[in-house]
Amino acid sequence: MSDAKTVVILGGGVGGVVTAATLREQLPHQHRIVLVDREPDHLFAPSLLWLITGQRTARQISRPLDRLAKKGIEVVCGDVDRIDPGTRQVSIIERSSTGATSREIEADYLVVSLGGELAPDTIPGLAEAGHSFYTLAGAESLRDALRTFEGGRIVVLTAAPAYKCPAAPYEAAMLINDQIRKRKLDDRTHIDLYAAEPGPLGVAGPDVSAGVRSMVEAAGIDYHPEHQVVSVDTPKRRLVFANGATAEFDLLAYVPPHQAPRVVRDAGMVDDSGWIPADRNTLHTGYDGVYAIGDVTGIPLKMGKLLPMAGVFAERQAKVVAHNISHDITGDGEMKWFDGNGECFVETGGGKAGFGRGDFYAEPAPQVTLHPVGRRWHLGKVLFEKRWLSKWF
Ligand SMILES: Cc1cc2nc3c(=O)[nH]c(=O)nc-3n(C[C@H](O)[C@H](O)[C@H](O)COP(=O)(O)OP(=O)(O)OC[C@H]3O[C@@H](n4cnc5c(N)ncnc54)[C@H](O)[C@@H]3O)c2cc1C
Repeated sequence: MSDAKTVVILGGGVGGVVTAATLREQLPHQHRIVLVDREPDHLFAPSLLWLITGQRTARQISRPLDRLAKKGIEVVCGDVDRIDPGTRQVSIIERSSTGATSREIEADYLVVSLGGELAPDTIPGLAEAGHSFYTLAGAESLRDALRTFEGGRIVVLTAAPAYKCPAAPYEAAMLINDQIRKRKLDDRTHIDLYAAEPGPLGVAGPDVSAGVRSMVEAAGIDYHPEHQVVSVDTPKRRLVFANGATAEFDLLAYVPPHQAPRVVRDAGMVDDSGWIPADRNTLHTGYDGVYAIGDVTGIPLKMGKLLPMAGVFAERQAKVVAHNISHDITGDGEMKWFDGNGECFVETGGGKAGFGRGDFYAEPAPQVTLHPVGRRWHLGKVLFEKRWLSKWF
């Protein structure tokens, strides 16, 4: 059995789960597939937006990662503490009621899908002042705050210009607005969206950006682009921006700044972009047998921005990488390439959504089309969620 290989996948989010499950379908069982995540559960993050408005519970949008063991995947619940990309050695710290134990795993193939690390503490006052709806705990605390909200100023804030799912804060603002209207608090409530970026979904081009902006403004939300928050005065509930402006709030919902996880920065795997560079088609990092996929990568586009962080890309990259590793081991099939195509739903409230789809590798700039808001796109997202949670678990 000396030709048995070990594939180690770091991260049990979108990219990690799809890589592991696709590899298990394709690789004979003599080859080991190990998936490592610090969390026991996989969270379907797009549905956090429905959790905020009480349409989903944490249980409905999570699945235990150890269900993957039934498929023949070894699931390790622990912190990835050190990566040596040159030797493909990984140190993992597993915690239990009796303490922490460290374990080393050596991989023949290593797939890094550790996502983006949320860094609210880089903006003084931010973490104490508001609810980060990009985490389960923050989305739950925002839901609870909205339930008892009786009117006032709500601010939705992006605390840095680049973050995963560029549509999410715009969707959050529209869904919160919808809930406020349903509770008949609209005559006593004002919603502002302060964004660090110059416009919504800038990578998708000016038409898509203008289209999403008009959806937000049509809902009666005041939009303030190019407002980079520098600090939050928590006692006064006041945001201070780099351009000298300030804004007061009664309820703050924010997207925190993102950075590559500490462990990949310590491993020297990131470049000047702050993210792991990887081949745009194969996701190979340049280290022998080491791939990086999803939000942890920085893939430059010709137009000067990075490929957006989105689950749709993490999923497609995962399928390509899993297929190519399997091809390398078994010799079956042909190499596949990730082509930069992707799509996303834009929830607007009232059971409706818009839908954008396009080629993000098109040159000189991505070619993306935004389809008009309608009920079918909302139903499409509901169906996608159901399929996701049943297909992979
Ligand atoms: C509110 C919200 C809405 C979204 N909506 C959409 C959408 O509609 N469409 C879309 O395409 N995308 C959407 N996204 C983005 C999407 O969820 C991410 O782009 C996607 O999850 C990225 O996949 P990934 O595998 O790169 O990282 P992740 O899914 O973030 O997975 C990373 C995993 O690594 C683990 N991890 C990190 N560091 C360590 C460590 N040191 N040790 C052990 N484990 C570690 C984490 O626990 C996590 O499970 C949304 C995100 C949010 C927050």
